[in-house]
Amino acid sequence: MKRFDIITIMPDLFQGFTDESLLARAQKKKIFKINVHNLRQWTTDKHKTVDAKPFGGGVGMVLKVEPILKAVKKIKQKNKKARVILFSPRGKKFDQEMAERFAKLDQIILISGRYEGVDERIAKHVADEVISIGDYVLLGGEVPSMAVIEAISRMIPGVIAKEESSRKPDHPQYTRPESIEISGKKRGVPKVLLSGDHKKIKEWREKNTKKLR
Ligand code: SAH
Repeated sequence: MKRFDIITIMPDLFQGFTDESLLARAQKKKIFKINVHNLRQWTTDKHKTVDAKPFGGGVGMVLKVEPILKAVKKIKQKNKKARVILFSPRGKKFDQEMAERFAKLDQIILISGRYEGVDERIAKHVADEVISIGDYVLLGGEVPSMAVIEAISRMIPGVIAKEESSRKPDHPQYTRPESIEISGKKRGVPKVLLSGDHKKIKEWREKNTKKLR
């Protein structure tokens, strides 16, 4: 069984995500397990401090090294080969090819930043890879963790019904009804899809495919 270990200061954000949909089913089928860890459990002070002011000044707070380092050490104890991923808008852009590469790993540890980010020593000396999900800045690494887990899990055999649909690039899809009024106009579907001509359908789909790689 594969494992995803998420390190976050907002574990509640993952409740619905891990307990619903295909991810819940895949976990029941023991295809993989998603573990959510509250970073605060690795603090030692009364206030469970995970952040501090940036050296050099500036606004906001930065996630400290110690709790993250402890978390990673603890999670890695059982599996030295677990891959450590840190989320940062300055990281390497996540794509389908990366998702396929990660799908082959046994265990992935995902570190979600918050506030003004994470002490750079985590990127330099703890993380194996630093990843961005796009050229925009979010509030935290939790949504990126979810995006990456969804993309990877589709590549793991048994997670979605037909294995072939997980690897196929994307073409437009239509379903019933054949015709429907939208804003006063009847809107149909491409005739070829109703023709029953599998060769023509395949050609149409190939022509209208967005290649992901
Ligand atoms: N000032 C920081 C931004 C911090 S955003 C900087 O320029 O790096 C807070 C956290 O959200 C980051 O530490 C990261 O974990 C996450 N995050 C924000 N945008 C992201 C993106 N596009 N991809 C991946 N993670 C992102």
